[in-house]
Amino acid sequence: MTVTDAATGSTAPTTTTGRPWASEALHRADPQIADLLAAEAERRAETIQLLAGENLTSPAVLAALTGPLIDKYAEGYPGRRHHTGCALADAAELLAIDRARQLFSAPHANVQPRSATSAMLAAYAALLRPGDGVLAMSLEHGGHLSCGSRANFSGRWFDFTGYGVREADGLIDLDQVRELARLHRPKAIVAGSISHPRHPDWEAFREIADEVDAYLIASVAQTTGLVAAGVAPSPVPYADVTVAATHKLLRGPRGGLLLSTAELAERIDRAVFPFTQGGAAMNEVAGKAVALAEAGTPAYRAYAERTVSGARTLARGLAEADMRPLTGGTDTHLVTVDVSPLGVTGAEAERRCAAAGLLLGKCALPYDPAPVAEASGIRLGTGTVTTQGMGVPELTEIAALIARLLSGEAPGPVGERVRELAAAFARRG
Ligand SMILES: *Cc1c(COP(=O)(O)O)cnc(C)c1O
Repeated sequence: MTVTDAATGSTAPTTTTGRPWASEALHRADPQIADLLAAEAERRAETIQLLAGENLTSPAVLAALTGPLIDKYAEGYPGRRHHTGCALADAAELLAIDRARQLFSAPHANVQPRSATSAMLAAYAALLRPGDGVLAMSLEHGGHLSCGSRANFSGRWFDFTGYGVREADGLIDLDQVRELARLHRPKAIVAGSISHPRHPDWEAFREIADEVDAYLIASVAQTTGLVAAGVAPSPVPYADVTVAATHKLLRGPRGGLLLSTAELAERIDRAVFPFTQGGAAMNEVAGKAVALAEAGTPAYRAYAERTVSGARTLARGLAEADMRPLTGGTDTHLVTVDVSPLGVTGAEAERRCAAAGLLLGKCALPYDPAPVAEASGIRLGTGTVTTQGMGVPELTEIAALIARLLSGEAPGPVGERVRELAAAFARRG
């Protein structure tokens, strides 16, 4: 049996070869984990995933991930490894690097970071010393934990100042960014967010960074795929360092990716290995190479465009049901909406939707009067559903289903429809 990849039109086996976790070998060796994985596949097949950072890893990437490079120790970089037997690992990493440089028109790429957070750590390590000042989007307004949370290395080791969005229109207040930059003279400025649905004005951020002689770090883990496809403005010509993720819209392995200027190449590489990581996961590097090649195709570009049009449809549908999309809409796959006009909190909205099989996340909003644990908003993303082939009609319907749940309807009937939709679009189990 085969299924069609909604975005690329390619087919992939759904037999046990395409699902090594479903193999007899695992079942014999560890029935508990085998059963758990089977149940997880079922859970996914019965629900609709609208969590903003999730996607379905492409079948070709999955194949590369389980290949023999999983066992190769390859500390260092191509041509300068600390281990022997690395010629083929080198070739795979060089392919990944070349593809990243080409796809993003970047002078330098490092494909080894294990996550976007460890890529951020390496970016800071390359540019800063402990105690240096950094200006980044405040966590309350959509900054990631790596932008100054006290629970994260960033907030302990660097001196963060937060900028935010205007209350009136929800857009980044560049006047405030400039004022804070002049006042605090940070060593680095970070632009990028986990929930803000518009693209940063990269040129304006570059100007502000230049004015105060700061580095500009672009943190685009959420929108890496949109940048790759040319559907979002690229930060690469403006930022000193760009931090990307390969597992979100890009549909590659769970991992990070660093792009930088040629001048910073050596510092970036040393900051990843040996400063913050040991040997790279070479199977992930191979998987990243595959994902980067796929992201350069017209089919991927069409996918990226559909994620944005799907998100706009979703935002419009939720707005028609009296929810308030942050900034009035979206330019990305992200939709962040204030659900308080319906008299529910974000946490309650998340629970009610989950009870009907619609998985999305509560989200604290800028100027949110509710306690963080409750929050006034929800955040949704169209990465997974678009990979599955859902489009404008389905997202229009999903917005209506969410509205029914948040207006107090019991989850039963909505849940039935969710299961029908999920089954119709399940790509693989
Ligand atoms: C997802 C995300 C991260 C964290 O990614 P991990 O790979 O889970 O560490 C960091 N920053 C931004 C902006 C993100 O969207």
